[in-house]
Amino acid sequence: MIIDGKKAAADLRVTLSKAVSELKETKGITPSLTVVLVGEDPASQVYVRNKVKQTTEVGMISNEIKLPASTSQTALLAQLAQLNNDHRVHGILVQLPLPKHIDENVIIAAINPEKDVDGFHAMNSGRLLNGEAGALVPCTPQGCIILAKQQLGHDLSGKHAVVIGRSNIVGKPVALLLLQENCTVTIAHSRTKDLAQICQQADILVAAVGRPNFVKADWVKKGATVIDVGINRIEDEKTGKTKLVGDVDFAEVSKVCAGITPVPGGVGPMTIACLLKNTLDAAKLSG
Ligand code: NAD
Repeated sequence: MIIDGKKAAADLRVTLSKAVSELKETKGITPSLTVVLVGEDPASQVYVRNKVKQTTEVGMISNEIKLPASTSQTALLAQLAQLNNDHRVHGILVQLPLPKHIDENVIIAAINPEKDVDGFHAMNSGRLLNGEAGALVPCTPQGCIILAKQQLGHDLSGKHAVVIGRSNIVGKPVALLLLQENCTVTIAHSRTKDLAQICQQADILVAAVGRPNFVKADWVKKGATVIDVGINRIEDEKTGKTKLVGDVDFAEVSKVCAGITPVPGGVGPMTIACLLKNTLDAAKLSG
């Protein structure tokens, strides 16, 4: 079965729209998200355009601050200080990657954790690690859990989840969320030995590697749920044009597993929907 991320994201946006209207009516608060884009990276421009569009579609206020690639770290920090102090701004997102002369860690640390809708600030990752309420949780991992539950139902407890990848953006937070759901979690990475054997044990297999068609059918247990986070652009042998593929060999693996997220149309659409959810949560906390 294909786990339809497009539909799940659309459903979530409907729920969020209603919650936004309710917050406006009951508290007079309209959630607002400010996206800061430094430079002209084409992929980032597309992501930001989609974020702006979907933010306004659910009734939130969307602001975009475009800065030239030559912007200094000091100037960006000054901009963030201004946004941190602006009570009308509930969510701040600095689009990554940043130009090389800017230290991403310094920038992430400078965002007010209560407005850190990407969930990358150490305060939020610490809260997630401790299982504390009020954490703003990274968006793509949240989307992975929603999609896993779509396939398996609300209770994931006791399932063996294998996560391939240990990045701060996807691998680690998704592993922590699965642990919160009472899964037994294995984190595999570039130095893991016998990766195929480990993956074969997974009831839930999350691939966040960044390697096209990396996970093969004989790595996957019959009946497993496969969440493919990868977004890789490769050349289509037939047409010569580029196309997007995941980290999982979809054609092969879909014959073995019980449920799989496609690329595109799986985890990808959930990321922005969960960003909107975080913006709503940040706005609620501010009220
Ligand atoms: P990353 O490069 O930061 O991390 C990749 C991880 O894969 C590392 O932890 C590394 O240890 C592991 N890895 C690399 N080679 C391996 C190997 N041979 N065997 C086992 N593990 C290996 O990447 P990331 O930011 O975590 O992103 C992973 C993928 O997810 C990318 O394709 C990225 O484009 C995609 N992504 C998608 C979304 C979305 O919205 N769907 C969001 C973020 C990232």
